[in-house]
Amino acid sequence: MGKIIVLGQMEGSQVSRISLEALSGARQLAAATGHTVLAALFGPGDPPEQLAGADIAEIIRLPNAELADYSPDHYVAAAEALIAAEQPELLVTGHSYQIRDWLPRLAARLGRPLISDCIGVRDAGAGRWVRPVFQGKISADVQTSPGLVLVSFQSGTYRADELGSGSPTVRTVPVDLSAVESRLQREEKFQEAKGAVDLSRAERIVAVGRGIGEEENLQLAHDLAKALGAEVGSSRPVVDYGWLDHDRQVGSSGQTVSPKLYLALGISGAIQHQVGMKNAGCIVAINKDANAPIFEIADYGIVGDLFDYVPALIKALHAR
Ligand SMILES: Cc1cc2nc3c(=O)[nH]c(=O)nc-3n(C[C@H](O)[C@H](O)[C@H](O)COP(=O)(O)OP(=O)(O)OC[C@H]3O[C@@H](n4cnc5c(N)ncnc54)[C@H](O)[C@@H]3O)c2cc1C
Repeated sequence: MGKIIVLGQMEGSQVSRISLEALSGARQLAAATGHTVLAALFGPGDPPEQLAGADIAEIIRLPNAELADYSPDHYVAAAEALIAAEQPELLVTGHSYQIRDWLPRLAARLGRPLISDCIGVRDAGAGRWVRPVFQGKISADVQTSPGLVLVSFQSGTYRADELGSGSPTVRTVPVDLSAVESRLQREEKFQEAKGAVDLSRAERIVAVGRGIGEEENLQLAHDLAKALGAEVGSSRPVVDYGWLDHDRQVGSSGQTVSPKLYLALGISGAIQHQVGMKNAGCIVAINKDANAPIFEIADYGIVGDLFDYVPALIKALHAR
């Protein structure tokens, strides 16, 4: 039985959502392979509450002060030392901008494969992974040879709330980073402009696609969202047309959401849209085309014209 180490990326004192998703993915890999899951946290400070009740064997801390803030040279050296000490079969994490920056360097240094932006596991035992190629137009199966494999999962591949229940022990792994020379000088963190909506926290989302036809028809989606107590989201064309702000776009180049209810109105369900919403608790789709890919992942589907159904739905909700 081997080890799967999940690198928990921190956002302040919390483990990032994408890392929790990776942890949930690692648990599924462990169930298929019989491996044990360990979460590794870089930097000083107590492990966050989020992991206290997770169904994982151990939380490993590398409390070096040099790891408190992002430093690719220190992160590569620390991960290399961690791997040397623990000899895992898999090193798993979420595919974030930071990971894109330093994990390839670690893979090159170790001479081991990195499956980046991984969107699924075809066969965990045989080391067969799925990742998008050609800008997400197709998915390719990638086969790795036996030995350590590094994997970064695309946001939304797994659910962040499926951590099971357990009581992991906490262990500190001492690593000496005093000889590491950082070639980068840190500056102030770049603060992305924060939009008014945070769809990732919404419990219900009414999402509109090109099927809405015209900008003025969006009012229908706003009315339905209001009646449901939902946020309005959209596919990319609606944002490209300038009908909604980018912070409402769901998908690979927009937000990843996991509401309890996702109502897709006139959305075909292209893969780039699906990766942002497939983990919704309940997906309801209204689409004129019975062959639209959205129906492959919908829990409930209506094959029909959204302009027939949405007004009736709003009326029914108001009549409650
Ligand atoms: C690198 C890259 C990144 C991308 N990122 C994203 C992303 O983040 N998010 C995203 O959404 N897309 C993204 N895309 C675009 C994606 O490939 C699709 O083009 C897009 O999702 C399609 O949007 P849509 O479903 O609204 O439109 P369409 O594919 O045109 O589908 C419209 C649907 O509406 C239905 N329809 C029409 N009229 C009605 C009606 N009256 N009632 C009911 N149904 C009706 C049609 O049957 C059709 O299925 C990306 C593409 C690339 C290459």
